[in-house]
Amino acid sequence: MNQSPETFDTNAIQALNDRQLRAALLNLASTFGERRKLAILSVNDWEGLRAQARSIKDETLANLDQYLEQFVLKAENNGAQIHWALNGEAAQRLILDLLKEKNVRRIVKSKSMTTEEIHLNEALERAGYAPVETDLGEWIIQLAHETPSHIVVPAIHKSKRQIAELFVEKVGIEPTDNVDELTKTARRVLRERFAEADVGISGVNFAVAETGTFLILENEGNARLTTSLPKIHIAVMGIEKVIPRLADLDVFLKLLPRSGTGQQLTAYQSLITGAKRQPDDEGPEEVHLVILDNGRSRMLAHPVTRQSLACIRCGACLNACPVYQQIGGHAYGSVYPGPIGAVITPQLSGIEKARQLPFASSLCGACREVCPVKIDIPELLLHLRAEVKQGAASRAASQTGKVSKHRIERLAFRFYAFAWSKKLTYEWGMKIARVFQRSIARKGRIGKVSGLFAGLAPALEAWTDWRDAPTIAERSFREVWREAEKTKGK
Ligand code: SF4
Repeated sequence: MNQSPETFDTNAIQALNDRQLRAALLNLASTFGERRKLAILSVNDWEGLRAQARSIKDETLANLDQYLEQFVLKAENNGAQIHWALNGEAAQRLILDLLKEKNVRRIVKSKSMTTEEIHLNEALERAGYAPVETDLGEWIIQLAHETPSHIVVPAIHKSKRQIAELFVEKVGIEPTDNVDELTKTARRVLRERFAEADVGISGVNFAVAETGTFLILENEGNARLTTSLPKIHIAVMGIEKVIPRLADLDVFLKLLPRSGTGQQLTAYQSLITGAKRQPDDEGPEEVHLVILDNGRSRMLAHPVTRQSLACIRCGACLNACPVYQQIGGHAYGSVYPGPIGAVITPQLSGIEKARQLPFASSLCGACREVCPVKIDIPELLLHLRAEVKQGAASRAASQTGKVSKHRIERLAFRFYAFAWSKKLTYEWGMKIARVFQRSIARKGRIGKVSGLFAGLAPALEAWTDWRDAPTIAERSFREVWREAEKTKGK
């Protein structure tokens, strides 16, 4: 599959025809959706908690410069070394320079969407390193030379059989479909990598301004090993990860695991406050924190897009999305798939490169319903759709001499608004449509329009390509009412 957001439409069709993928995604909504429903029952006031989380995020984003400054000061006092990166290339360069300076040879990594975003593994491999992903799902897709297809469950698109075959081919085990055996194999191989690593690279879930502490949530214990066994720990975080107070963690620790995996708490919560202080202490000798912008300041500057930065990457919107449930994550052609991916990717990579993504939604609102920080994803999608259309309109306007498709579209909608807002034109319009539909309706529905009508109105063909509509009733309610009134009067 060509993994680019520019080819979303063709990627999606390919995904829809991939039976194995559809089978792998079959239980996504029921498994995670049901677990989430059960998990949120254990909280007294779930809605209140969501509102609290959103207000903490809003407060943080409104004063992000101050909270970042406070976090950095505290983290430096705790012994962490801070590095700022304006974009992905700068972050890659920074990390590569650091590895060279420290004469690093072996690297382990724990799951981090931010390092995926900056394509760190590719940069490390180009520089001659062989970073090893230690989260089981991430390790599987690394072995398969693939990218994550879900924010929380990166190998959700793979079946047990495919994983078993991959282990036979890449790790050299005897064929087995025993999940325990496969997990034991992964543990055995990865433990050796931990023991020999000079550097551990991780992401960050939350960074507390009040104390300079940062938090990593996980279930396998691999992030704990990544951040504590090697001599050097490098953590990569976006500027939006900061929260004001340690007490705020209480809110997010209740929301994130319940929303993402339906757990009341993840198995491990590692709170990291600097490097080790005494020679006999456990933990790394150096902690480096790379703080990344990469387009986030742009999102922050706009009152509508700012809320995208409230995302805590729980993945609930992916699990709830009827589009994601059918096509999975790779079709989005970007690191962040699903509804939040359709919002973030065009803002990170530029609307031109990802202009199909804001349209990859039915706007049903399921994502908004489940989002623990109440991000209004449909509002963001509509905002981005408007940007796409404006961009296309101004491009068309700069073309000479031709009446643009968008001008025709605008005129058509103006005519539609006029006709539908006046009683007379509305009633005559419906009468004409009733006659017209006889030629295209089948069994009470209007499906794909083709032939002569498609030739006369190509937009109608495109509109009906994926949408069925019920036919217009033979007699309208007004007509039935008027007739009834007449009969009464006789
Ligand atoms: S947008 Fe909301 S639901 Fe989706 S990943 Fe972010 S926090 Fe979770």
